[in-house]
Amino acid sequence: MTDWLVGTITHVRTETPTGRSLTIAVDGWPGNLAGQHLDLRLTAPDGYQAVRSYSIASVGADPSVQLAVDKIPTGEVSPYLVDDVLPGDQLEVRGPLGRWFVWTPEDTRPIQLIAGGSGIVPLVAMARAHAASGSAVPFRLLYSVRSPQDRFFADEIAALESETFRVDLVYTRSTPEGWPTPAGRVTRDVIEALTLPASDAPGVFVCGPTGFVEAVARSLVDLGHEPQNVKTERFGGS
Ligand SMILES: Cc1cc2nc3c(=O)[nH]c(=O)nc-3n(C[C@H](O)[C@H](O)[C@H](O)COP(=O)(O)OP(=O)(O)OC[C@H]3O[C@@H](n4cnc5c(N)ncnc54)[C@H](O)[C@@H]3O)c2cc1C
Repeated sequence: MTDWLVGTITHVRTETPTGRSLTIAVDGWPGNLAGQHLDLRLTAPDGYQAVRSYSIASVGADPSVQLAVDKIPTGEVSPYLVDDVLPGDQLEVRGPLGRWFVWTPEDTRPIQLIAGGSGIVPLVAMARAHAASGSAVPFRLLYSVRSPQDRFFADEIAALESETFRVDLVYTRSTPEGWPTPAGRVTRDVIEALTLPASDAPGVFVCGPTGFVEAVARSLVDLGHEPQNVKTERFGGS
């Protein structure tokens, strides 16, 4: 396991009504691949410590990492990161962690990304890496959010859309005016309609709350995707 490193918050940005992105300058950060995560440790004045995992939205050798956190109202750590932390505050991080849920430009398969809520974080890193590499590999993103204002990195994702990066949004509670389909969950039918078919043998990355990830992964296998082509990252919850 790598050592704990000191990080200093340099920038915070409101992303959604319940979520913020945080940029953290980390002395000694070795860089990271798209899709990796880190452990973040907070220490209270009385010495009590809490550790949580967070995916990394940034990618590459930069010693500044970007995270995005959604507030779990009953949670111990996320309300502090979303409501209280300020530029100049310090915390500790350890990483990068995980070498399995990653995309690198050497992967020449078509890629399907499927995110629920803050599950977009490691997938936006993959979309950034794809754009930065100039890769012509087809990328698609299916992004499920409660409502239009719940989209993390909304402007950037819209700007990344291109001939090789298609984005489909699914709203689970409320849609923008004039949206062609009613609000609803990402069902097997939605996945069939809005993602690359199993016959293309895409690499699929699914990330979000545990229940979302498990339901989506089941539908993908049901639709004929080989289980080894479907990589998942579960953020917890039900
Ligand atoms: C590899 C990995 C990467 C992650 N990346 C991110 C990320 O990029 N952004 C992000 O916001 N979170 C991410 N998470 C989730 C994060 O680690 C915390 O679990 C989350 O911030 C809640 O922490 P907390 O201390 O506020 O809540 P806790 O005090 O740990 O939990 C409070 C209650 O909320 C429930 N709960 C915990 N997590 C969730 C959840 N995700 N959804 C719904 N209910 C939950 C718990 O079961 C508990 O009942 C990631 C988790 C993993 C394992």
